Amino acid sequence: NTTSSSNFIKHIIKEDLASGKHDEIVTRFPPEPNGYLHIGHAKSIVLNFELAYEFKGKIHLRFDDTNPLKEDVEYVNSIKEDIEWLGYKWDALHFASNYFEEMYHRAVVLIKKGLAYVEDLSQEEIRAYRGTLTEPGKESPARSRTVEENLDLFERMRKGEFKNGEKVLRAKIDMSSPNINMRDPVIYRISHTEHHNTGDQWCIYPLYSFAHPLEDAIEGVTHSICTLEFEDQRPFYDWVVANCDMDAEPRQYEFARLNLTNTVMSKRKLKQLVDENYVDGWDDPRMPTISGLRRRGFTADSIKQFCREIGVARADNTVDVRMLEHFIREDLKLKAPRTMSVLDPLKVVITNYPEGEVEWLDADINPENEEMGKRKIPFSREIYIERSDFMENPPKKYFRLFPGSEVRLKHAYFIKCEEVVKDDAGNIVELRCTYDPETKSGTGFTGRKVKGTLHWVEATHAKAAEFRLYDSLILDEKSGHDFLEQVNPDSLTIAQGFVEPNMEEAKANDKFQFFRHGYFNVDPKHTTEEKLVFNRIVELKSSFKL
Ligand code: ATP
Ligand code: MG
Ligand code: MG
Repeated sequence: NTTSSSNFIKHIIKEDLASGKHDEIVTRFPPEPNGYLHIGHAKSIVLNFELAYEFKGKIHLRFDDTNPLKEDVEYVNSIKEDIEWLGYKWDALHFASNYFEEMYHRAVVLIKKGLAYVEDLSQEEIRAYRGTLTEPGKESPARSRTVEENLDLFERMRKGEFKNGEKVLRAKIDMSSPNINMRDPVIYRISHTEHHNTGDQWCIYPLYSFAHPLEDAIEGVTHSICTLEFEDQRPFYDWVVANCDMDAEPRQYEFARLNLTNTVMSKRKLKQLVDENYVDGWDDPRMPTISGLRRRGFTADSIKQFCREIGVARADNTVDVRMLEHFIREDLKLKAPRTMSVLDPLKVVITNYPEGEVEWLDADINPENEEMGKRKIPFSREIYIERSDFMENPPKKYFRLFPGSEVRLKHAYFIKCEEVVKDDAGNIVELRCTYDPETKSGTGFTGRKVKGTLHWVEATHAKAAEFRLYDSLILDEKSGHDFLEQVNPDSLTIAQGFVEPNMEEAKANDKFQFFRHGYFNVDPKHTTEEKLVFNRIVELKSSFKL
């Protein structure tokens, strides 16, 4: 399933194609290269790319790099990498900054039509003049400048004759418009700042609300899809397209942005978490970035399927983050090899098993997908079990191991706990058990039943491994607080344990289901020749229902 169900944008596109308004649609994904992409961007990527694919149109990747202050090539590269990893190919790659000359020219067109003027007021004064929802704005003295004077001043702005903030260029529309965005918005400002693409070529930069419709029109974008907060900007978007004499007539459509529980999704906040070392980089497995999700072990398919399922609506809502987890479980259920790991090892010596002997047991790689075949796991006199699977004084209905109890070892035998070995301080350091050779897994033994099945790893062949267990990075958001106060101090737990010896060949980003522990990914950053490091993607079960 690679297409999402119908949505209001599809309806519009179908009508536009049927009526002949367009022969071919063009969409775009326009990130500002001021951070790494996050799961919210994925929603927009899936929407824009799959609309273009479904309607056999074109999709442009456009870097919306009109603000020189926050942008960087590191971000440009990571954005391309993430989109490619998701499995999408753009038909054209553009940088908005390559249109600076054209945008300047379009601003001159406005000035010549008497539709733009150079303003001397400060930012604060402009704001004060702008009025409120209930009060009309006040016209600035500069509004009556002649075309000649405006052309001259704008050219001198470009030449660098003025300091930052000394002048701006404003569209001349209507200071009493009920839409405050139409009250002579600023369209160019002075910023003596190096730009990652154009260097020191420019010291004036267009504002986003002016630049964006021009970019869309220049590229022949037909359906410019953005998030709801731009709805109030749509009249200005249309005004720019109409008055700058653009050939194409792109239309803006808004949809609700993705919000997720326990997740911050603003690049500014994510950057703060990185810069202030709350996390280990943009790709920290706790981050909602595409690169973080990838390192955590989410597959591209699971992310895309999630984005398709949440749909495209016109009303804001918040999606439960457990829904994203549902899709990775679904994706890995039949694909991930199943294997055993012990995260907090307790040694068990099987006293009636011959010393020095090792037997190799057969186990399904994935019982739900027999095509994956079988694996061999060693069994001998010494194994590790999970420390939490033993209790010296258990409560009623405890079916795991305790003195005198019998349990099943997955894929192996029943064992019975005979003795608890402690150190001088009273800590349990070892269990002594006996096994019953009659109970071997796969032999159809029915003599008696046990209620508990434990996972385990044979001790002499076990491979040491580190396990990184994650909890939400952000605790439930309480409004009115600094979000840094909501950072969960216990979002990462590191455990040292063992995996089966057949894991020797595991490579970065291989994914496994560890019996009873959940789905894990081989961490590409911390895994070394000596030691595998696993990120837990998700636990096996969730109370969440789709
Ligand atoms: P942020 O607020 O996180 O900094 P942004 O909107 O400023 O994000 P852009 O680089 O401008 O980031 O975003 C590129 C595209 O991704 C835009 O078209 C924007 O609408 C879309 N987008 C960003 N965040 C979300 C989200 N949470 N849900 C859906 N689409 C999003
Ligand atoms: Mg934006
Ligand atoms: Mg932004």
